[in-house]
Amino acid sequence: MTESTHHMTHVPMLDLKAQYMPLREEIENAFSNILDSGRFVLGENVASFEKEIAAYHGVIGAVGLASGTDALHLSLKSLDITSGDEVITTPFTFIATAEAITYVNAKPVFVDIDRNTLNMDPAQIEDKITERTKAILIVHLFGQPAEMDEIMAIARRHNLRVVEDCAQSFGAKYEGAPIGSFGDTSCFSFYPSKNLGAHGDGGMMISDNAKLCKKVELLRNHGTVGPYIHDFIGFNSRLDEIQAAILRIKFKYIDEYIAKRRNLASLYTSILNGVVQCPLEIENRKHVYHQYTIRTPLRDKIQQDLADHAISSVVYYPMPLHLQKAFDYLGYGKGSFPEAEAAAEDVLSLPIYPELAPETVDYIGRTIVKAVQG
Ligand SMILES: *Cc1c(COP(=O)(O)O)cnc(C)c1O
Repeated sequence: MTESTHHMTHVPMLDLKAQYMPLREEIENAFSNILDSGRFVLGENVASFEKEIAAYHGVIGAVGLASGTDALHLSLKSLDITSGDEVITTPFTFIATAEAITYVNAKPVFVDIDRNTLNMDPAQIEDKITERTKAILIVHLFGQPAEMDEIMAIARRHNLRVVEDCAQSFGAKYEGAPIGSFGDTSCFSFYPSKNLGAHGDGGMMISDNAKLCKKVELLRNHGTVGPYIHDFIGFNSRLDEIQAAILRIKFKYIDEYIAKRRNLASLYTSILNGVVQCPLEIENRKHVYHQYTIRTPLRDKIQQDLADHAISSVVYYPMPLHLQKAFDYLGYGKGSFPEAEAAAEDVLSLPIYPELAPETVDYIGRTIVKAVQG
């Protein structure tokens, strides 16, 4: 390190302790109340949290689940998607998106991404629709809202269901409407690193369709319709009281956390614009920057220079899903989705979290400018 002795310490991708410390007393109180109550699963915290999340999104129902992956799985199951069906999704996402499709024995059908948003390119969707297509599983990657007008129009035209994977986009908006309020069902993850993160696993399905909410509510609890009475085969996928109580506390601050992420993102962009490709701020859309992801042909050099300055960075994602061994059986190969493959070669996600100091973003930005300009 030649410059800036004030950054001797390592810059992590995210700092969960920094978020916890100011909430410590509040969280510890909630924790001990639950331990005293003896009610650990599906109690009043889960019920209240479900109501709060439904209201935030302007939908009638929300169902707390064990993970975001389960929210996707149980959503598809509630829509009766099953073996022989096809579900259209993006190859440039976390694997859970496509895994959920395989859990109901349906086939993931990938559509390439738009190079500017990194989300599924709506112009390429209709080519992939067959008589077996039942749904579009849309991902709002890194917190950038997907093209909902086009996607909803395509779904209506072909009578397809829409499931939103909102694991990375809690609080994002599209033309004023909350992301998660468009799909037949929408799925959230409360994995600790997500924008609204628990201190363990958690997830939620939300919907404006009472029947689908009821179905997922039964699916999460073994299809139990009365004490030890089971109308169908379900699962154990319940959100626990401790996670729900912690999430209710953090939820009070979510809009503040998002505002801070957006400020840091705009600071990054003011330094890096023209030096690398920065995330797009699109009119009438609210990006919530779960990740601040740049694109640059100098990706590997920049990552090395950042590491030399003790700054973390991560490649989300180094291999698109269609090239993963796990999806060999789908028969795609190299060249199937050129934009997703190109992104895997040149994306780099930089540290971003509400407690990150603007001075540190400035330092990271200047380190990248120097790496690029030599
Ligand atoms: C995190 C994530 C999931 C899975 O959520 P879990 O709670 O970890 O099961 C699904 N899709 C995307 C896009 C994610 O980022």
